[in-house]
Amino acid sequence: MTDIRGFMKYPRRAVPARPVEERLGDWDEVYAGQALLPVVSEQATRCMDCGIPFCHSGCPLGNLIPEWNTYAEHGDWRAASERLHATNNFPEFTGRLCPAPCEDACVLAINTDPVTIKNVEQAIADQSWERGYTRPQPPERLSEKSVAVVGSGPAGLAAAQQLTRSGHTVVVYERADRVGGLLRYGIPAFKMEKRYLDRRTEQMRAEGTTFRTGVDVGGELDAAELMTRHDVLVVAVGAREQRELPVPGRNLLGIHQAMEYLTFANRTVQGDYAVSPITAEGKHVVIVGGGDTGSDCLGTVLRQGAASVLQLDINPEPEQGRPAGEPWPTYPKVYRISHAHEEARGRAGTDPRVFSAATLRFEGSATGRVRALHLTEVEPRERRPRPGTERVIPAELVLLALGFSGPERGTGLTEQLGLAWDGRGNFARDAGFAAETAHGTDGIFIAGDAGRGQSLVVWAIAEGRSAAAAADRYLTGSTALPAPITPDDGPLTV
Ligand SMILES: Cc1cc2nc3c(=O)[nH]c(=O)nc-3n(C[C@H](O)[C@H](O)[C@H](O)COP(=O)(O)OP(=O)(O)OC[C@H]3O[C@@H](n4cnc5c(N)ncnc54)[C@H](O)[C@@H]3O)c2cc1C
Ligand code: SF4
Repeated sequence: MTDIRGFMKYPRRAVPARPVEERLGDWDEVYAGQALLPVVSEQATRCMDCGIPFCHSGCPLGNLIPEWNTYAEHGDWRAASERLHATNNFPEFTGRLCPAPCEDACVLAINTDPVTIKNVEQAIADQSWERGYTRPQPPERLSEKSVAVVGSGPAGLAAAQQLTRSGHTVVVYERADRVGGLLRYGIPAFKMEKRYLDRRTEQMRAEGTTFRTGVDVGGELDAAELMTRHDVLVVAVGAREQRELPVPGRNLLGIHQAMEYLTFANRTVQGDYAVSPITAEGKHVVIVGGGDTGSDCLGTVLRQGAASVLQLDINPEPEQGRPAGEPWPTYPKVYRISHAHEEARGRAGTDPRVFSAATLRFEGSATGRVRALHLTEVEPRERRPRPGTERVIPAELVLLALGFSGPERGTGLTEQLGLAWDGRGNFARDAGFAAETAHGTDGIFIAGDAGRGQSLVVWAIAEGRSAAAAADRYLTGSTALPAPITPDDGPLTV
């Protein structure tokens, strides 16, 4: 148990970000690496062991936060690591990437600053690797059952690790040339350096998981044929159908989908190109879309040396504090300043965001390149243009970060397996993660964004763990694997 008065003795001290000018000069992580261990222990002491840990419900994985806080307080990193890995395959990913809905659900957050749960999680995960507690856990015996996992994002990786450790022979098929899904080519290195992904993949290889990269299931490898080679198929292909902006001028040169831009940028940082084929260097850039993908584009654009950058958000500016309709312990929609916004403010002196802004059209040059964007302010609810608010801004590179509408449509994978769609445009599945198919085939499970829609790494890991439990039960008749969520579970709402 932690010191029940810890939160009265110590104020919240989160890990500081590196100075803006320093971090804009490289692609290393924004946060200054690991917190000093005495600070982590002090911050863990702020957990008051409140009896009903609402943070558990805030975390989709049901992470045992008060338990590992106790071990972190006393510097018992081995026990802390064991409790952390009991519910989370990849805490070094979530410790870096999670928006930490658990902190909004922390009881302290009712009237003061919550425990720095995410920082404590990252410190335990990093200590576990540094001290050699995170070792491969190969199964003691093999089941003689074989599983194909399609897609190597966090959902596919979590499912593969759970099923390999249960004794099944698991092959992960990945279309891209490297493993990791959006962790590899979507999320920039300044949020999570790729060496953490490589290290985890090595651990999985040592446990017995096989990775086949550069294989498009449904393309060169027939998905129905794959079914005949394996006893179970876990489909974890993500939600990669990108939303479009159907306005005049969309086809001009210099207008790109965010994922096209971020993939090139990530590949450049990983050494595939000397200079990114789509670079912001010296250009006036406009990012259309106010979400996290837009924020990742912003941080990348700034590091590439853009002349100027604006980020358009069609939504009105959120409130500074919790809105009345989103009380504790929900994850509220409030005005947040990401590290990329902080960087843009540091560089230009002003916030790059323009709220309640919609794009009317693009204007091109004689050579067919975009050179300006016409925008208008919109009414908050109906999003109708406000007359007289139209203005033109310079735009030599435009990045569309409008989100994703579900798994890719019209692929061979969908047709060959006969996958059905649900009402939200994702792959349909039952309460046990089993796919609904036109052919009535069983043994296919859907995990991650492919079934849930565009979400978060923590949900993808929870999906992978739960789908693995369902697949294990299908293969063996019972399972000891944990299933933290059902397909219907969602964020805490009121
Ligand atoms: C730019 C960006 C930044 C983000 N930042 C964060 C963040 O900071 N924190 C956070 O929590 N979440 C973040 N997210 C969301 C998070 O990355 C996703 O929710 C998560 O990666 C989903 O995991 P997944 O395994 O379901 O799918 P994905 O990560 O999308 O992986 C799917 C994999 O399947 C492969 N694939 C697809 N079709 C086939 C096929 N036919 N054959 C073989 N392989 C195939 C793809 O190549 C891909 O590797 C971000 C998303 C984006 C786009
Ligand atoms: S995974 Fe995310 S929600 Fe869960 S404890 Fe970690 S930071 Fe909190």
